[in-house]
Amino acid sequence: MSDDAPPRRPLKPATQLVHGGTQRSSFGELSEALYLTQSFAYPTMEAAEARFKGDEPGFIYSRFSNPTVAMFEQRMCLLEGTEAARATASGMAAVTASLLAQLKAGDHVVSARALFGSCLYVVEDLLPRLGIASTLVDGADLEQWKAAVRPETKLFFLESPTNPGLEVYDLSAIADIAHEAGAKLVVDNVFATPLLQKPFDFGADVVVYSATKHIDGQGRCLGGVILASQALIEESVHNFLRQTGPAMSPFNAWVMLKGLETLPLRVAQQTASAAKIADFLATEKVVGRVLYPFRADHPQADLARRQMSGGGTLVSFSMAGGKPAAFRLANALEVIKISNNLGDAKSLITHPATTTHQRLTPEARASLGIGDGLLRLSVGLEDADDLVDDLARGLWAAARA
Ligand SMILES: *Cc1c(COP(=O)(O)O)cnc(C)c1O
Repeated sequence: MSDDAPPRRPLKPATQLVHGGTQRSSFGELSEALYLTQSFAYPTMEAAEARFKGDEPGFIYSRFSNPTVAMFEQRMCLLEGTEAARATASGMAAVTASLLAQLKAGDHVVSARALFGSCLYVVEDLLPRLGIASTLVDGADLEQWKAAVRPETKLFFLESPTNPGLEVYDLSAIADIAHEAGAKLVVDNVFATPLLQKPFDFGADVVVYSATKHIDGQGRCLGGVILASQALIEESVHNFLRQTGPAMSPFNAWVMLKGLETLPLRVAQQTASAAKIADFLATEKVVGRVLYPFRADHPQADLARRQMSGGGTLVSFSMAGGKPAAFRLANALEVIKISNNLGDAKSLITHPATTTHQRLTPEARASLGIGDGLLRLSVGLEDADDLVDDLARGLWAAARA
């Protein structure tokens, strides 16, 4: 045995996700405490004054921060490898706040067109109503990002992989275009999960999540989180959240903390099953096209492998028989549930054209590759063989017009 103590290496993500950010009270509780409190009592008036002035650390009011929420934020920082995080009531609160906190009337935003439905509403409808112009581009076409830049462009916004087409965008090339224009890149990293894609490594300035999805992972609570450098959070996001109030409930933060403990196991299992299911679907004649970022036939397969460490937990596929075939398939499923949620332990299937993307015109849907036969499958934690059997039953029903 050597005389030197064994080296102390930085803790790996799975370890951080179990222990990171934990702050124990004087009781020494092992599991993270749930501080279900709105406010905090100060020992003296002087202490209250110092805390409000920022001279003394400590909690003031749970709209600003709360110990359970702070533990969740700290654990997310460790996972993402960044300095600061702020939790929000939902993913949409995170997306909206991350944009509005940094923008004012007269500014301009460039965004990929392929967005989660509510994100599209924020960029396309809400921002322009507030005097913030937005341009939607085909996220895969770097020339369109470049051509959309104006002197007043402040932010670029995108999701990758996209919902529901699972297109993959070149984060570092797009970050370079943004930075050249003096703009910042905000990435909605929900579909990739914090484990399979690290947008900060590719130049993103802000990363947002709907914690509702894989971070909870068991379909219980809504939540969101905004991650960035300390400077960016302090300059814009912190005060915006504190004053406008889309705070995460301490209860939800507690559920999310527990979700993070098992995130690596769940994402690994769900990703392995998703890859297996994608390969199974690709062998079936009634299936027109399978979209899965790590399949060789994915249009951005090389980019996906450079940028992600796994293909993710979602598979999209189009039925050659259009909407009737897609409906027959989904209606015949027994294990997989029909739902628009994703990232859940339960496998969920949705028909974007009639649900999440119903609001769009048929032309807008077509431009996003959302045909009437497209189905999006969020792969859960069931045995992959049972999921394949369930889909085989659905495909059999789909083929019987
Ligand atoms: C679900 C989702 C959101 C919105 O999150 P909520 O928690 O439902 O508000 C935003 N972006 C993407 C990509 C999502 O999947």
